[in-house]
Amino acid sequence: MIARKPRTGSARGRKIILKSEQEIALMRRAGRIVALTLQRLADSAQPGISTQELDRIADTTIRSFGALPSFYKLYGYPANICASINDEVVHGIPGDRTLRPGDIVSFDVGATVEGMIADAATTVAVGAISPGARDLLKVTSEALSRGIAQARPGNRIADISAAVQRHVESHDFSVVRKLVGHGVGRSMHEPPHVPNFLDGTSDSSPELVPGMTLAIEPMVNQGAWQVVQDDDGWTYRTKDGSLSAHFEHTIVVTGEQCEILTLREAPGRSNRAPEDHSRAGRPLRTPAGG
Ligand code: MG
Repeated sequence: MIARKPRTGSARGRKIILKSEQEIALMRRAGRIVALTLQRLADSAQPGISTQELDRIADTTIRSFGALPSFYKLYGYPANICASINDEVVHGIPGDRTLRPGDIVSFDVGATVEGMIADAATTVAVGAISPGARDLLKVTSEALSRGIAQARPGNRIADISAAVQRHVESHDFSVVRKLVGHGVGRSMHEPPHVPNFLDGTSDSSPELVPGMTLAIEPMVNQGAWQVVQDDDGWTYRTKDGSLSAHFEHTIVVTGEQCEILTLREAPGRSNRAPEDHSRAGRPLRTPAGG
């Protein structure tokens, strides 16, 4: 959630926190709860339901596993999840608004287990959506997979950024630049930034090492990359009114590759970045921007 604004400086100069096996185990538990919650939200995203009702479903689900919703009161955020509809990019605050057929809605969820956080997002269709919207969801989910596939020791953050950007732009969509992914774990936002684009600092981009935990979260616009923020101080939407999608996973860099921590099931023997998880039925992951 709550994708970072790059260049706010808060992450620069701070040290990247490598996690212990015990901390990663807690994040894996948190991640599974996030994944189950996102699945429940996806199943519940039917015409007529309000985003506030969806927020309650998420709160109940997360707490039923003994975890806490990480977003609640984070920087003063007034809800448990972010629910961003159509041209809303991220940080949509749940409320009275009801979902309508043809909408797309991005859910961003965080769960905290014994102080350790996992963060993920997914965008789902409400009823039948346009071919263009379907393409946006597919490409954004694929971009997340491409980014995750670059998360391995010896690569740099910039390799993730480049893979996401290349895939998105090859489909004539654009990546949001105002908000970026982030380190995550002991707190929601840790260094480093994980941009979805190259910004000219690739050479000094941090090298990936085992134990690094990252929220990788492409935010992709159907039109131009510019976004504007609502007067509520939270909601970002596309400046040109085009649709926007958001997919996010929390991963840990392992000895060989990475493990996705925000999956419903523990991966077999980890150490793999599934190339095909975007095809595993309904998108099961989360957003940043939250
Ligand atoms: Mg995030």
